[in-house]
Amino acid sequence: SYDIAFEDVSFSYSENGPQAVKNVSFSLPKGTVTGIVGPSGGGKSTLAQLLLRFYEPQQGCIKIGGVNIGEIPPSRLTGLVSYVFQDSFLFHDTVENNIRMGNREAAFEALEQAAKSAGIHEVIMSLPKGYQTVIGEKDAYLSGGEKQRIAIARVFLKDTPIVILDEATAYADAENEAKIQQAFARLAQNKTVLIIAHRLKTVENANQILVLEEGELLAAGTHEELLHNC
Ligand code: ADP
Ligand code: ADP
Repeated sequence: SYDIAFEDVSFSYSENGPQAVKNVSFSLPKGTVTGIVGPSGGGKSTLAQLLLRFYEPQQGCIKIGGVNIGEIPPSRLTGLVSYVFQDSFLFHDTVENNIRMGNREAAFEALEQAAKSAGIHEVIMSLPKGYQTVIGEKDAYLSGGEKQRIAIARVFLKDTPIVILDEATAYADAENEAKIQQAFARLAQNKTVLIIAHRLKTVENANQILVLEEGELLAAGTHEELLHNC
């Protein structure tokens, strides 16, 4: 697994536009879960997208295992990092192929285990053709939360050393959210996990929590430490 470091990173979406991220430095130690919280528009998603190299910072650098991500070939980066966004899209294909994306060779047992970890196995089994149900068929309606859990199962199956969840449980009810977070906490023992959340509660068990507001890192610490400082 890998340590990740953001070193004095600044980024604006347009040349003379406002900075979405301002002089941000922090590290994500390997084998830990880090939560990022803060108001909407604070720069949380931008940080995730910088780590995925969707954009290049104008200042500072981002390192994975000590290597500047600018020097990591895109295909290698894809194998290192997997992510779930709030509106992760599913393909018009079977549930099985949607979960298999990124790991075609996995055994069916591994697929089912991933679905169980994401809390979606029972829902899949209740579909007309189970794992062979085609997403988007009118007799196979899935709610937003269920589709999101299929995208989360994909991440469990892909099993990359780095995982980013950006409001990935936004549609989940409290019970499912807790289950998914627990599963990721177990998984994190040999991974680096970054969870972006709207509510502090979602990441209360993270090893560290970063608070981001207007592009700036306001505080960092455990849930307990942050509560005592506020
Ligand atoms: P958060 O994830 O904390 O809600 P974002 O990282 O999405 O915050 O947004 C940070 C800032 O960057 C906001 O001011 C937002 O409007 C702006 N922003 C986000 N995405 C884009 C984009 N694609 N183009 C221009 N500005 C953007
Ligand atoms: P979530 O909180 O996960 O988004 P919803 O409240 O959207 O859940 O849906 C709850 C349940 O109702 C799910 O099992 C979903 O498949 C089913 N469902 C929701 N909307 C429809 C619909 N228009 N037709 C059939 N089933 C639906």
